[in-house]
Amino acid sequence: MTADSKTIPATLIAGDGIGPEIVESVIEILDAVDAPFAWDRQLAGMAGVDAVNDPLPKQTIESIRRTGLALKGPLTTPVGGGFKSINVTLRQEFGLFANVRPTKTIVPGGKFEDIDLVIFRENLEGYYAAMEHYIPVGEDPKGIALSSGFTSRAECRRIVKYAFEYAVQNNRKTVTIVHKANILKLLTGLFLEEGRKVAEEYKGRVEFNERIVDACAMQLVINPWQFDVIVTTNLFGDILSDLTAGLVGGLGMAPGANIGEKAAVFEAVHGSAPDIAGKGIANPLALLLAAVMMLRHVGRNDMADRIDSAIAKVITSGAVRTRDLGGTASTKDLTAALKQAL
Ligand code: NAD
Repeated sequence: MTADSKTIPATLIAGDGIGPEIVESVIEILDAVDAPFAWDRQLAGMAGVDAVNDPLPKQTIESIRRTGLALKGPLTTPVGGGFKSINVTLRQEFGLFANVRPTKTIVPGGKFEDIDLVIFRENLEGYYAAMEHYIPVGEDPKGIALSSGFTSRAECRRIVKYAFEYAVQNNRKTVTIVHKANILKLLTGLFLEEGRKVAEEYKGRVEFNERIVDACAMQLVINPWQFDVIVTTNLFGDILSDLTAGLVGGLGMAPGANIGEKAAVFEAVHGSAPDIAGKGIANPLALLLAAVMMLRHVGRNDMADRIDSAIAKVITSGAVRTRDLGGTASTKDLTAALKQAL
């Protein structure tokens, strides 16, 4: 590793709970392939609250604005205290409109071999950007809870087009739009309406179909192999991507990228796992797979392929797996085995 090979500035957020343990592991592996990132280490989450009473300090935002690229460990969203979700704030701040969540079988011998699909989740709208309030009924101040989400035609178009472009560039055959337009006729009806228009533009190049979200959930369990690229709304994408993570070994295997025009933030799908934090047993692979996505994002497919094949080699052999994958290895054991397999 040489200092002058670190040519791409990138923000590094260690995060909370298991964050620092898995980030350390991932950095070791990135260093072993001489990855080009020049890290600017910043705080967020509880570490930010402890240091400057802010879960998303200005300095951290400024750093991401400067680098346009970040690798982020999981953050604990403090309950109460008036703090907004950091992840939602980051998405809004940098217009991270696409949440890309690939699901691929790496752990052999499970019920679901050879799965390889990608979920594109709309990241800025829907119920996650909802205005919520209570309406009192009689003596009960919370008699009714009201939530009004929104969808804009422009964002529907942008995320669906992004999914179709991905399909074209990555030789994917089919894009499935997932919605609930039979019930949420406007909120997800507009998503479907705009999605169909985009699909028309790609006719002959990418096949297109549509599924209602509840039926899609069932089909993902019965026959996930029929799916290739899925594009859906914020809430449905969040839920379905945890379901698909469950098909391939759980949250410890699920990476994600948040892509926008001004920045791209890479992270594991899972949270800070307070139940196992500090024990040295967390699975670093979800964050490592996110780092692999980050390498591909900056055009270093060579390094990404090296790490991908080291992961496949180690996990397929079965000798070194963390507890969530049925093994006994510590985070450090797995990191060492991965480095050796590079
Ligand atoms: P979680 O994902 O942290 O944990 C759920 C379960 O999965 C736990 O049993 C945990 O031990 C296990 N798990 C998660 N990642 C693992 C790993 N890498 N290796 C082994 N086991 C792993 O979900 P939670 O407990 O609901 O949330 C904890 C905190 O994380 C909350 O404050 C939540 O708001 C936050 N969170 C943050 C993000 C993010 O930063 N992107 C995402 C989800 C949740």
